[in-house]
This record gives sequence, C-alpha cells and structure tokens, in this order.
Amino acid sequence: MILRSILTAIVALALPAAAAAEAVLVHAGQLLVQPGEAPLRQATLVIDDGTVRAVRPGFATPAEAGLPAARVIDLSRAFVMPGFIDLHVHLASFAGGESYLRKPSDYAALRAAANARTTLMAGFTTVCDLGSIGYAVLALRDAIRDGIVPGPRILASGDPISPTAGHSDNHGYREEVMAALPRRGVCDGADDCRRAVREAVRRGADVIKVMASGGTLDESDAPTDQQFSDAELIAIAETAHAFGRKVTAHAHGKGAIDACIRAGFDSIEHGMWADAETLRQMKAKGVWLIPTVYPITYVGTTPEQVRAGPLRNLPPVSLAKVIALGDQPKKLVRQAQAMGVKIALGTDASIYPHGQNAHEFLEYVEAGMTPMQALEAGTTRAAEAGGIKGAGSLRPGMPADVVAMARSPLDDMAAVLDVAFVMRGGTVYKMDGREIPFMPPASPAAPAAPH
Ligand SMILES: [Zn+2]
Repeated sequence: MILRSILTAIVALALPAAAAAEAVLVHAGQLLVQPGEAPLRQATLVIDDGTVRAVRPGFATPAEAGLPAARVIDLSRAFVMPGFIDLHVHLASFAGGESYLRKPSDYAALRAAANARTTLMAGFTTVCDLGSIGYAVLALRDAIRDGIVPGPRILASGDPISPTAGHSDNHGYREEVMAALPRRGVCDGADDCRRAVREAVRRGADVIKVMASGGTLDESDAPTDQQFSDAELIAIAETAHAFGRKVTAHAHGKGAIDACIRAGFDSIEHGMWADAETLRQMKAKGVWLIPTVYPITYVGTTPEQVRAGPLRNLPPVSLAKVIALGDQPKKLVRQAQAMGVKIALGTDASIYPHGQNAHEFLEYVEAGMTPMQALEAGTTRAAEAGGIKGAGSLRPGMPADVVAMARSPLDDMAAVLDVAFVMRGGTVYKMDGREIPFMPPASPAAPAAPH
C-alpha cells in the first residue's frame, strides 16, 4: 500500500495533471470521434480550454496545430473515444454495503464522493443519479462541478417521486420508526404530485425520477403493480416538462410502463416485463428504454446463482422476486433492439459495486447489439436520452471528455473494462492505467471580514 502511494507520487511528478485550461494534443492510434461513424486511424484531437477545438489527420505537432505551448499526450497505440455515460446510478448507495441508519446523515455524501471517483476511473465522465436520499448527491454534483472533488459530471434527481407506500416510501416498519424517517418526494393525487415535482426542482433536481411500479429488492411491494394513477402520472410529466426537466420512470410491470407511456414520460428504467405491444408504443412515441441488465447478471440469473450470490441474505420474498427475473433483461434488450426501440445505457450501479458499470456494454452485445451499437447506447444515445448537450461525442465544440483503452472495443467489447486514460473537461484524471492524484484548486480568496 505504501509502495503504491510512493509509486503514485512519482507518477504524479512525472505526469502532472493537465489543467483544464491547458492546450493539449492527443495523438490517437484510433479515434472514434462520434460513435456510429467509423473510427479514424492516426489522428490528433486538438483540445484547448477544456474543449475539443479540432480533429486533424495524422499526428500533428503543437506548431502545426497552431498551439505552440500545447502538451502532447501520446495515445498513438490506443483506441480513443468519448467518455462513457451511465444514465442510472445511485452514487450514495451500495446494496451490499452499510446501513446509513447507524451513520450521521452527511456520511452518505462522503460515500457518494468515493463512488463518484471510482466511476470516473472506470471511464464514465457523465452519470445520471436517479435517487439518493436528501441532498447528498445534489451537493456532490455541485462540488464536482466546482472542482472540489474528482468525479463524473452528474445530473441528479435527488429523492424520487413515489406514492404513499410506493417503492421509495418508507414502509414495512413499525409506526414510530416510519414517523422518524424523512418522506421527501411522497405524493398522492394529481395536485399533490405537481407539488412534489416542484419541490424536487426547488431542491435542485436536474431530472425527475418517478417510482411508477413496485421494486424487486424490497419486501412489501410488487414490481408488477401500477402504483400511481394515470391522472397522477400525467400531472407529474406535465409539471416536469413545464420546468424543462426530463421525466423517467422506474417501471417493471406492463401496466405501469403503459401508463407512463400514455402520460408522456421520456424514458423507462428497467422495463423488465414490457411485451411486444408495449415496445411498439415506446417506439411509436420515441420513449427511451434504459434496461439495466448487468445488475441482474451480477446477482445471478438462475435460482442457484441467486441463492449463492451476493444478495443471498435478502428476505425470502425479495429473493423470489430476483429469481423471477432470470434472463428476462437480456431477452428484453434483444426484443427491443430488434423492434427498433431506442435504448440508452443505464446500470443501476449500487446493486453491484460502483466502477463495474462498463460491464453493461458487454451485456448489450450478448443481447444482440453490435459493439458499435453498444458504444452508441453509452455515449451519443445516452446523451440524447438524458437531454445532455455537452457529452457523448468529440466533435469540435464539445467538452473534452475522453477515454482510451489498449484495444479496440469494436474488435473485443471487453476492452471497455480496462480504461487506461480518462480526461474530463480537459483535465486528465487517469494516465497509463494509473490515477493522477487529484489536486483541488487553491482556496478561493478569504471572505471579507464581517461588518
Ligand atoms: Zn435504480
């Protein structure tokens, strides 16, 4: 451990982290500027002030690029592409981890910061956090944006919107315990649901996350339930859109998914039991599917695997719901892809350890996508589904969110599991497979003395 720290320190001296404002030329062996298009061979990515300025053929020198002071980063033997995007994470949680009931409430934000750093090191430069209690991830989002701690760019929902007794309400405990726990995001009736969405926006939510069906891991609701009425879902979607926010639904059962499609939702998370008719509706209305396959593979897809797997200590009722999923997620992706439903990458990071998010790309290929389609799902398509303007592509004008790996994922999708280089907004966070120690900027000027 000490040796590793010393090595890291030496590497840090040899390879100082690029400041965001620094001019950088990345010499790329292969450069995938825009997933969906063929990668370029031997090209230079010209970056200045944290933004991609140009893409040039060959390995341009700083003088040739018109930036004589530029630093050259040699990725001439690597595959270089836009940073990955995960539209469904829970940075403050880990299903196999500790209970926050025994921790101070601010502990969740510190746990989330560690998970955010791990996620960035795995090549995810943008994530959407779809549910964290209180302000933990909303605060982390701002701290990362302000350069205080390292991590991906975060869009966050804060507390999800749920009906009384719904998937993210507290239920199943004795009365006194439930009375003591916070209940943000809980609403009943169309007017109250408008209020709940407005409250979420007031707290700083970038996206509105709705618990439209029951869930799998808890004990007291069924994933096939439609928990909100049509009138409530319409009120939620209208209010979210009125505030310029995307609205996405946790929905497993057909009834809940269909109701969200009717109500005008932008996307469906999980969508496990969507049938052909539901998928046709999603395609017709342009509703995105965010299928979260890897967590189910992680917990096991056969009854034997689930009973011996990481969630083996779940209560029997929850274990039975996990077992019922089987390989349904992969079947769903195969069918949705074949029918032309738009799919974007999301992983529900928290069911599995944070940082393993890139396994989702491999799941999509196993479910029938080409490697390029899988890469699109986790870059350009995720940016489109999430309404994220500055991510998913390395075209001139885009933020310099860049990852690189030794092999081409177009030849072997498993290459995405070994991201060796990470840059976000022009700052290098990982080089040659090693994390660059993060240096927050010097403290801002001391506040003026009180009057
Ligand atoms: Zn989730």
